[in-house]
Amino acid sequence: MTKKVIVSGMRPTGKLHFGHLHGALLNWRHLLDEYNCYYFIADWHALTSEYSRTDIIRQSTYEIVMDWISIGLDPEKSTFFVQSHIKEHAELHLLFAMITPLPWLERNPTYKDQLREITQRDLYTYGFLGYPVLQAADILMYKANGVPVGEDQAPHVELTREIARRFNHFFGEIFPEPDTLLTPTAKILGIDRRKMSKSYGNAIFLTDTDEELDAKVGRMITDPQRAKRSDPGNPAVCNVFSFHEIYSSPETVADIDKKCRNAGIGCVECKKLMAAALNRYLEPIRERRRQLEARPDDVKQIISEGNKKARAVAAETMAEVREAVQL
Ligand code: SF4
Repeated sequence: MTKKVIVSGMRPTGKLHFGHLHGALLNWRHLLDEYNCYYFIADWHALTSEYSRTDIIRQSTYEIVMDWISIGLDPEKSTFFVQSHIKEHAELHLLFAMITPLPWLERNPTYKDQLREITQRDLYTYGFLGYPVLQAADILMYKANGVPVGEDQAPHVELTREIARRFNHFFGEIFPEPDTLLTPTAKILGIDRRKMSKSYGNAIFLTDTDEELDAKVGRMITDPQRAKRSDPGNPAVCNVFSFHEIYSSPETVADIDKKCRNAGIGCVECKKLMAAALNRYLEPIRERRRQLEARPDDVKQIISEGNKKARAVAAETMAEVREAVQL
């Protein structure tokens, strides 16, 4: 039986952190066996907001692919490609732009939120408004049945469905309407208790060394009500404990839960245990990454093979689309 197709991408705007790991990558890895997965570097998407500092894009592309492989995303079981290397995405984006009503884009909640929140860059551009149209092209090019996304991206998948429906209405049944596959999210936050993000300076990166990681965990905000070592704490509101729940043994988690509540353990000691657990988890990932860094041509080869596979599918889809549109 042919596997269903899923498509998902990541913007190459810097190193990956635990937010990416729990917000997308572990789910992507989990989906490898069940689906025919297309995972891509969304470098044109990066341009929609980073058009004035493009220097990070190419290097981040390789960094991210190395991170993907290091955490166990198998390029043999999926297709990794770079969006800008498949020019058909631009063509399909253009055709979708012709049929997408402007109000669909203007009412998009993510668009409105980002305009409000990201004030240090001018996002009042044609490209930024059209971001979800390009995303629809990325997804529908491979006739995806599903798109694994976080809750904040769900409106974009809905828009993709609407664009597919409208295209099919005008030109005939070409595209399936993909389902939103919501990523189960763990409740881990950045070291300052805000959403983990490179731009907030609160991220623990997958490439951090032991020392960098120890220092960041040492600065983590814990239970804000626990001012002194002798105060009992509440692990339920503590981000350090959230990491323990994922990375420490069940015995350690139970022990810390009990000791925290009766002030039997201090936050300094608790953080050291957590940092050690994270470092243990990261060690094999770092080792795989060191091996990849020593073989840059292998990474380039993986991307090139993936591009070739993606391009073949894209060429087929676009032949069908041009025929349908009568171009
Ligand atoms: S002891 Fe651990 S779980 Fe409790 S508040 Fe401190 S860091 Fe958090």
